[in-house]
Amino acid sequence: MPLTQRSSWLDADLDSFRDLAHSFCQKELAPNQERWSAAKQVDRELWLKAGEVGLLCLSIPEEYGGGGGTFAHEAVLLDEQARAGDDAWGHVVHSGIVAHYVSSCGTEDQKRRWLPKLASGELVGAIAMTEPGTGSDLQNVKTKAIRDGDHYVINGAKTFITNGHQAELVVVVAKTDPGEAAKGVSLLVLETEGAEGFRRGRVLDKIGMHGQDTSELFFDDVRVPAENLLGEVEGQGFVQLMRQLPQERLLIAVSAVSAMEIALEQTVRYTKERSAFGREIFKFQNTRFKLAECATEVAVAKAFLDQCVERHLKGDLDVTGAAMVKWWTTDRLSRVADECLQLFGGYGYMSEYPISRAWTSARVQRIFGGTNEIMKEIISRSL
Ligand SMILES: Cc1cc2nc3c(=O)[nH]c(=O)nc-3n(C[C@H](O)[C@H](O)[C@H](O)COP(=O)(O)OP(=O)(O)OC[C@H]3O[C@@H](n4cnc5c(N)ncnc54)[C@H](O)[C@@H]3O)c2cc1C
Repeated sequence: MPLTQRSSWLDADLDSFRDLAHSFCQKELAPNQERWSAAKQVDRELWLKAGEVGLLCLSIPEEYGGGGGTFAHEAVLLDEQARAGDDAWGHVVHSGIVAHYVSSCGTEDQKRRWLPKLASGELVGAIAMTEPGTGSDLQNVKTKAIRDGDHYVINGAKTFITNGHQAELVVVVAKTDPGEAAKGVSLLVLETEGAEGFRRGRVLDKIGMHGQDTSELFFDDVRVPAENLLGEVEGQGFVQLMRQLPQERLLIAVSAVSAMEIALEQTVRYTKERSAFGREIFKFQNTRFKLAECATEVAVAKAFLDQCVERHLKGDLDVTGAAMVKWWTTDRLSRVADECLQLFGGYGYMSEYPISRAWTSARVQRIFGGTNEIMKEIISRSL
């Protein structure tokens, strides 16, 4: 019997899509984990393989090369990725975030230029908001994009950028009017191939997600054609970010709940296999009570997540709801992953045990996509 309920928004179409996602993730992601961790990135060909079977840009309309699906398809793929034990492949940023910036904020020309290549995997996408000196306080980004004839000239530095080492299409958050706060922010799309003055820093060393190419990016008088301004109107960047961030946060919540379910399943299994003092570890009252607490946390988190996914599918998940589900599920994930790791004893601390990776991957979810403190700040504004 499954330890958790089936999501209310799943249907037969999504079940058959899951078969495709499952076989791809088991074949292409699961066996490569150690190699990608050592390389600090996935294989570039992975993107092309995923594009070929139609797993990129699932919720982008077919006329732009996407899958023509919905957020539910993205969620199923994310769940299958987690079940394959992978935290390296940055398809969420590529398909769930970058492609949606282009799709929702781009002009018709921009959509036709970039979406088909994102869907095929010819281009890998990244979103560059965070800077060495500015993370949460996005209105204060220091990177500038100043108009010069029919180009913008970008100067600045970004850090912690997912897909940063491989990205060929980077949505850069920059000030087109440095004298303004939010109203001065615009989104510039940089095609990195041949871009003079664009430089990638090292792939950063992290405590987890070792196979993900989180990188620094540097811009030194990088000239970007004016037609690469997303939406072609200056000063819209902050509004565009605010419109897209709920989906980004919901995607984080989806992966948090999947990770919780998987940690629980693995720990129930392990505690029934391992013995101490002549009996299964599962039989100690402490173990059963801890797992009962975790199962409850997972059930509550999943019910709330499903409600938010349904709202998003109907187009009415607001900024507050997305902030709630992001902080709540990632906070619970940290607790569940920690309790589960404890029940593995010393083995829980060994990197060959998936629970140790679940624990390190869990930690960052309270930080990225807007920290959980910022989520509470957002929620409090609605009170
Ligand atoms: C693995 C990884 C991947 C990432 N991927 C990307 C990516 O693809 N693109 C991208 O742009 N960024 C990415 N980030 C960056 C991430 O979004 C930022 O780290 C995050 O937004 C926090 O910014 P910061 O690190 O500058 O922390 P700061 O903003 O300096 O915050 C430090 C602390 O102060 C708290 N704080 C700040 N302001 C307030 C406030 N008003 N009230 C209360 N507390 C506050 C924060 O909650 C935090 O605890 C990634 C980060 C990591 C670790």
